[in-house]
Amino acid sequence: MAFVVSGFAGEPVRTRASRRTQGVSMVAAESSLKTDESARIMKEAQDLMPGGVNSPVRAFKSVGGGPVVFDRVKGSKAYDVDGNEYIDYIGSWGPAIVGAANEEVNEALVKQIEKGTSFGAPCELENQLAQDVIDAVPSLEMVRFVNSGTEACLSVIRVMRAFTGRQKFIKFSGCYHGHADMYLVQAGSGVLTLGLPDSPGVPKETTAPTLVAKYNDLDSVKAIFEANKDEIAGVILEPVVGNSGFIPPTMEFLQGLRDLCTAEGALLCFDEVMTGFRISYAGAQGHFGIKPDMSTFGKVIGGGLPVGAYGGRRDIMEMVAPAGPVYQAGTLSGNPLAMTAGLKTLEILRRPGSYEYLDKITSRLAAGMVDAAKDAGHDAVGGSISAMYGMYFTKDPVHNFEQASQSDMKKFAPFHRGMLESGIYLAPSGYEAGFTGLAHTEEDIDKTIEAARKVLSTIPPN
Ligand SMILES: *Cc1c(COP(=O)(O)O)cnc(C)c1O
Repeated sequence: MAFVVSGFAGEPVRTRASRRTQGVSMVAAESSLKTDESARIMKEAQDLMPGGVNSPVRAFKSVGGGPVVFDRVKGSKAYDVDGNEYIDYIGSWGPAIVGAANEEVNEALVKQIEKGTSFGAPCELENQLAQDVIDAVPSLEMVRFVNSGTEACLSVIRVMRAFTGRQKFIKFSGCYHGHADMYLVQAGSGVLTLGLPDSPGVPKETTAPTLVAKYNDLDSVKAIFEANKDEIAGVILEPVVGNSGFIPPTMEFLQGLRDLCTAEGALLCFDEVMTGFRISYAGAQGHFGIKPDMSTFGKVIGGGLPVGAYGGRRDIMEMVAPAGPVYQAGTLSGNPLAMTAGLKTLEILRRPGSYEYLDKITSRLAAGMVDAAKDAGHDAVGGSISAMYGMYFTKDPVHNFEQASQSDMKKFAPFHRGMLESGIYLAPSGYEAGFTGLAHTEEDIDKTIEAARKVLSTIPPN
């Protein structure tokens, strides 16, 4: 769930209350969808929660038109409170990879509810999910469950700092690692610039040790290491970027980061909150065959309940309390309900053919959308790996955030709205990856590509 930290983060964060009623009334005025109930509920929500939402991107600020309010989800579909049906390519921002409201997951949850939803004491389900995650991802020797991706990412940096005795770390522009203070850093004017906070309320002392490099650009990382000899605890990245669209890494980049971290005595952390169990059952690290020291997870491993996890090398993880001195705790961490949803979700994903199917439908979808855009006279590039895809309205291939921001967002807003009105629910930002799941059918893909053709032909080309 990214409002995305670099460059475009400012817009959703600093939306103005004065625009709110304007935004809501636009729904009814401009839409061919029936949206009376959505508009009513969002209008009430505006007075109850900041921007009417509990996470910024849901407010549709970057595409306009006002959000639709969901009533229920099932399989590949979402249904809003006005009775509209959508093919859903967000899937709760990732967790719904086995299909929303999956019957097997639900059944397991109902059984568990009878036994209690939270123990605050050890339960065997924690061992089982830990074992599954460790078996799946070769670099993991131990894990700690938390309640969100944000929590996993903020905890992992604490451990990396403690283990190395160093304060600084490197992240990449366009990568999102949750909303903890030290990650809310804009790219700045150059790679050697110390990070400046991207949100009011974040002390610049907190982000000063956050050094920002350019994705897929090993030289930008080398330069930071050289300028901060023996001061860098580690490097954290999205091993496939999904929070500024869809940006795959080059093999040289990933291998280079691995070698550089080893040579510099720094730790390499893959933030697999989005890519874990999505790019492959072994995550992006399994797909690319690179072994990080530490990793973070979230989204899919909670199967729709709030879960995050961090883990990695045993010698590093044994620093975490109570085995070691690094404090980190959680009242609801490892709760039996969340563990149950995660266990069943991973069990379904392990069945033969899951990832082959996801790759097949998703690559067809991405190629179909790009073709549709080009046939309508738009510049477009896009791609997919397994159940994650993206498209940009730009001519040149996108290797980093700076190139992603060349995408024509004036086209994305009407594209998004047109698709919504055609019954296709896409992420309400051109800087978000799209997600498919096992419940998406070939027919869903056909319908989506057909809708994209129609909508894109109504948008004026360059
Ligand atoms: C979503 C996401 C997070 C944050 O996870 P939350 O559960 O929303 O706190 C962190 N890193 C990445 C790569 C993400 O996609």
